[in-house]
Amino acid sequence: MALIVQKYGGTSVGSVERIQAVAQRVYNTVKAGNSLVVVVSAMGKTTDGLVKLANEISPNPNRREMDMLLSTGEQVTIALLSMALQELGQPAISMTGAQVGIVTEAEHSRARILHIETTRLTRHIDAGKVVVVAGFQGTSSAGEMEITTLGRGGSDTSAVAIAAALQANFCEIYTDVPGILTTDPRLVAEAQLMDAITCNEMLELASLGAKVLHPRAVEIARNYGVPLVVRSSWTDAPGTWVTSAKPQGRSLINLEIARPVDAVEFDTDQAKVALLRVPDKPGVAARLFGEISRQKVDVDLIIQSVHEGNSNDIAFTVTTPILKRAEAVAAAIAPALRSQSNPKSDEAEVMVEHNIAKVSIAGAGMIGRPGVAAKMFATLAEAGVNIQMISTSEVKVSCVVNATECDRAVNALRSAFEIEAGGQGAGSRGELLTPNSSLLTPHSPPPVRGVALDLNQARLAIRQLPDRPGMAAKLFGLLAQHNISVDMIIQSQRCRVIDGVPRRDIAFTVSRIDGESAKKMLTQVAAELEWGEVVLDSAIAKVSIVGAGMVGQPGVAAKMFEALAEHQINIQMIATSEIKISCVVAQEQGVKALQVIHAAFGLAGSEKFVVPA
Ligand code: ADP
Ligand code: ASP
Ligand code: MG
Repeated sequence: MALIVQKYGGTSVGSVERIQAVAQRVYNTVKAGNSLVVVVSAMGKTTDGLVKLANEISPNPNRREMDMLLSTGEQVTIALLSMALQELGQPAISMTGAQVGIVTEAEHSRARILHIETTRLTRHIDAGKVVVVAGFQGTSSAGEMEITTLGRGGSDTSAVAIAAALQANFCEIYTDVPGILTTDPRLVAEAQLMDAITCNEMLELASLGAKVLHPRAVEIARNYGVPLVVRSSWTDAPGTWVTSAKPQGRSLINLEIARPVDAVEFDTDQAKVALLRVPDKPGVAARLFGEISRQKVDVDLIIQSVHEGNSNDIAFTVTTPILKRAEAVAAAIAPALRSQSNPKSDEAEVMVEHNIAKVSIAGAGMIGRPGVAAKMFATLAEAGVNIQMISTSEVKVSCVVNATECDRAVNALRSAFEIEAGGQGAGSRGELLTPNSSLLTPHSPPPVRGVALDLNQARLAIRQLPDRPGMAAKLFGLLAQHNISVDMIIQSQRCRVIDGVPRRDIAFTVSRIDGESAKKMLTQVAAELEWGEVVLDSAIAKVSIVGAGMVGQPGVAAKMFEALAEHQINIQMIATSEIKISCVVAQEQGVKALQVIHAAFGLAGSEKFVVPA
C-alpha cells in the first residue's frame, strides 16, 4: 500500500462531469489499496476570472485582498470533489491550506512554504479518508494568520510540498496534456512526449516558459527527492517521470527557503575569446559557431548582446588546451564579418583572455529569489573581485573572474553561503528516483530535450557602467531589494574609457510586469552611481533549448543559431549555462523561432496533439 499525493489542474476539474471523473479515478486508486491526499486547483479559468474582476475595480489591487480573493477558487473545488467522493461511498474531507497548516512567508501573492503540519492530514488518512486540499494557498504563521497564495500555477508546488512533508511514495500531477512534451503543444502540435526528464532539465524548462509544472514544485522534488510524475487526466497512460538524484537529508523546516545554495564550484582551466563589434544581423552567430563546431571546439559559456551603434559583441569560454584552436577559428572568420565596402579597423576585433576562472554557486532554491545572486555579487565585491562575465540558470549562477582571484572568490563564497570545502550539491544528471526505476534506464537521450518560449520578458540595458568591483553587486542588490528577479545577464565585452573611467554596458532580462518599475527605479539612481542611460525594450521573446546531454557536444549552439539565421530571425542576446542556451529575439518572431528550433533538433513527431479547451 502506497501513500500518494495527486494533483488535478484547472481544466481537469473544469466542470461537474470532470470533477466526477476525478472522483472516480481517486476512488479507483483507493480501492487498489492506496492512501490518498488530493490537491486541486480552481475550476477551469476561475482564477483568471477573479483577477479580471479585481482589475475592473482597481488597476493595482492590494496584494492581501488579491490573496483573499484568489484563494476562494480552490475552496469551491475541494468541497465539490469531496462531495463527489462521498457520493461514490468514499469517505473524504476537504481542507483549506490554513486548515491543513500550510505555513508560508507573509509575502502575499508569491509566498514560499515554510512548513507543513502533518498531524491533521495523517489523522484523517489513518481514519481511511481521502483528504482533499486546496492548492496554491497557505497561511502566514506570525500572529495574524493571513491567507497567502503561492503565485500563479502554484498548486503543483502545494502538491509536491505535501508529498515531501508526508514522505509520500510519490506525487502525481494530472493535467490536460499526456505529460511533459518537447515543447508546448499549443504552439507546436508535433511536440513529442518524453517518458522521463531530470529535475534540473525540468527546472530550466519550467522557468523558461513551459508552464506544465510550476518551477518551485520541481525545486522541492529535487531537494527532497520526491518521485514526481506528470500524467493525463483523461487516460491511463504512464506520463512523464521527473527524476532526481538521491538528495542528502534535508530538514522540513523552512521547506522552500533553507539552503538555496548547496555547492560552490570553480574551474580554473578556462580562457575567453571575444569578437568585438560584429554586425547586428541574422547569421553572424551561426557562422561563427558553425565553424567552431566543424573544428570540434567545445565551447562552455556563450554570451552576446547588442550595444551602441547596433553592433554586437560575442564572447565564449573554452578550456585552456583548446584555446589556440578557438582563437584561430575566430581570427579566420573575423575578416568576413567586416563590412566589405568600407572596412573599419576596429570591426570584428578578436580579443583573447587567458587567465580566467569560472566560479559558480549551485543549488535548487534560487527561483524567484533575486537576493541569492545579489548576495553572490556582493560577496565578490567585498572580496575585491571584478566580474567579467555572468551566466545564470535556475540552478547555477556563474561568474568569470581573473584566475588569480579565484581562490579568494571561492573562499569568500563558501563562507557567505556556509558551504564546507569539498561539499557537493545534488548531481546534475538525475539518477532515477522513481518507484519502478528499472523501467526507466536512460537510453542516451538526445542532447536537446525540450524547447521553451517566454513571451513575458522585457530587456533592460544600462549604458556605460564603471568597470570596477561592486557594480554588479550594486545593480542586482537594488533589483533584489525590489524583489525583481533577473534572468539573462550580459556585460559587454568592449570597454570604453569615458572621463578617465573604463566603462561597460550591462543588459539583462526581467519579467515584463517588472520592466517599467525597474527602469524607473534604476533611472533614479543612475546619475549618482555614474551610470549612463537606462533603456527598456518590452517587445522581446526568449526562446531556449534545454538538455543535460549538450555538455561536450560542440554543434548544439551552432544548430540553434543556424535554424534562426535560415529564417532571417535576428538574435539580440545569447546566454548559456551548462544545460541551456537562450536567445532573445523580436517578440513577433518568438513563435516562429520556437517552431524552427524545435524542428531543427528533430524533436517533432508524426503524431499531433490536440489540447482540450
Ligand atoms: P493545469 O491547469 O493542469 O495546472 P497548466 O495549464 O498549468 O495545467 O499546464 C498545462 C499546459 O502547459 C498544457 O496545456 C500546455 O499548453 C502547456 N505546456 C507548455 N509547455 C509544455 C511542455 N513542454 N509540455 C507539456 N505542456 C506544456
Ligand atoms: N488556480 C491557480 C492559478 O490558476 C493555481 C493553480 O492552478 O495552480 O494560477
Ligand atoms: Mg498549472
